[in-house]
Amino acid sequence: MGRADYLRLGDWNTVCFQCGFKAKASTLVRNWQGYYVHPEHNEPRQTQDFVRGVPDNQIAPWVQPFPAAIYTYQNVQLGQGDGVNRFYQLGCGLYAVTVTQVEVGGVPTIAYTADSTGGITLTTAPAPYTIVTASGKETMA
Ligand SMILES: [Zn+2]
Repeated sequence: MGRADYLRLGDWNTVCFQCGFKAKASTLVRNWQGYYVHPEHNEPRQTQDFVRGVPDNQIAPWVQPFPAAIYTYQNVQLGQGDGVNRFYQLGCGLYAVTVTQVEVGGVPTIAYTADSTGGITLTTAPAPYTIVTASGKETMA
């Protein structure tokens, strides 16, 4: 006969989750893990279980973009005519370029079209060895 082998109305037999001995359910307590154990080996949860890491926020408090670099071109030599090619490039071709003037052989011309990135297409191909220059502004942003 064990210590739980008796009748108590409304109670029942079970085993302690810690020691495995038979016990009346009313004599056990629920521990922090949710298991029922004898009161003598019920322990509070280790407080170090509640330690949480400090967030390591490495984002800078504020940032800002680089200012746009603006290049001004004044009669920059783009190339020499070969009698065939009509396309010349002012600037690197990656950023916005405003072409203000194109000269062929030192003479300003309006016979060209310019795209938004500095590509210049002359209406007619310059004669061989004729120097093509252009002026304008390039905004690198
Ligand atoms: Zn026990």
